[in-house]
Amino acid sequence: MLTPNLTVNAEGHLCIGGADTAALAKAHGTPLYVMDETMIRENCRGYQRVIAEEYGGNGLICFASKALSCKELYRIVDSEQLGADVISGGELYTALQAGMPAAKIVMHGNSKSDEELKMALETGVGRIVCDNLPELERLNRIAGALGKTPAIMLRIKPGIDAHTHDFVKTGCIDSKFGFALETGEALDAVRAASAYPNLKLVGIHCHIGSQIFDTEPFAEAARVMVRFMAQIRAALGLTLPELNLGGGPGIKYTEDDDPPAFGSIVRAILAALKAACSELDFPQPFVLFEPGRSIVGGAGLTLYTVMAKKIIPDIRTYVLVDGGMCDNPRYALYHSRYEAVLANKAGDERSERVTVGGKCCESGDLIGEDMPLQPAEPGDILAVLATGVYNYSMASNYNRNPRAEMVMVKDGAARTVVRRESYEDICRNDI
Ligand SMILES: *Cc1c(COP(=O)(O)O)cnc(C)c1O
Repeated sequence: MLTPNLTVNAEGHLCIGGADTAALAKAHGTPLYVMDETMIRENCRGYQRVIAEEYGGNGLICFASKALSCKELYRIVDSEQLGADVISGGELYTALQAGMPAAKIVMHGNSKSDEELKMALETGVGRIVCDNLPELERLNRIAGALGKTPAIMLRIKPGIDAHTHDFVKTGCIDSKFGFALETGEALDAVRAASAYPNLKLVGIHCHIGSQIFDTEPFAEAARVMVRFMAQIRAALGLTLPELNLGGGPGIKYTEDDDPPAFGSIVRAILAALKAACSELDFPQPFVLFEPGRSIVGGAGLTLYTVMAKKIIPDIRTYVLVDGGMCDNPRYALYHSRYEAVLANKAGDERSERVTVGGKCCESGDLIGEDMPLQPAEPGDILAVLATGVYNYSMASNYNRNPRAEMVMVKDGAARTVVRRESYEDICRNDI
């Protein structure tokens, strides 16, 4: 199986974290997001352990909210001593509602509204990562009016080309995020930021992309950022105490994927960071990481009911399910690949190749093409694996489909953590 938390029981049913997924589908209905709490906690601990062992614990792991934002997830990561990064007022609100301490929250966004900045200031988030000059100007003004001096970081484009999908690549000069290093824009931004009376510049941030399998671009980003910190010290006499290196470690979506363990990536990053610091005689900064996908991705799956099978001779076989791009838009966005299994026939061989189609009114509403699957019949339960990340968080009400329920599994038992939306929920703001 794709991840070690997946097993097949005596009845031939797929289990996650010890819970029978066919039984979960029956009890909760479909589509259903199922998350494995134990695996989420193990991943949080894995990150914490590396920081403790390789860096004396001088850092903070901030779970990237956009990966999966709901109250229970913040409670879990908070109880594992992680912080969170948020990218909107909505994510910030959810994290605070769940009891995440504001001081452990990092506020991101390349286009934050005045209301969002004000909310970040009033709730006292630990760090605000600023993306552009107009934002610095606005934040300084709003902070002054509120009598606050927030700790800020600047988002830097380090010019690293990580090999991943164009839409999730963020570290190059042609990116909408942050200040470019190679043009001198970043140093100018540091100069500007440090001159504002109501802002306290504490460090710099970069995030080179997502679903990255190579270790080297991460290590290189760390070196580039430390060199830039040394350049800031030389040019402005300013020794910044913090460095945020973002997220990005890739996960296994299909049997063909062979990503390095995130622990080995973080170890390599910290080794590069320490080496660069000692080479430049720069004090080792407090380090932040913002993993999302590698914490929750493999810990989740989605269950659907098979509604129909459509065989188009010599062309393809469609298996049509009761969800689709409304609960998982990633195929439509990136042509992402997934593994699927019939949850109620998981012990059988996946002897067919099918295209899994959703219920939305788009031909591109697919979960995947050319997927190995057990022979499907209407009424079977289809499990799509490794959907713990960028599925629920990207879900929509397209075609006025209610957003699916999410359950959290622990020691074989499941509890609802996000209720299924009702038609009334969908109409709530209609006038
Ligand atoms: C997307 C994002 C992350 C998380 O990336 P993962 O690949 O899910 O680990 C972290 N930080 C920032 C700024 C991001 O935009």
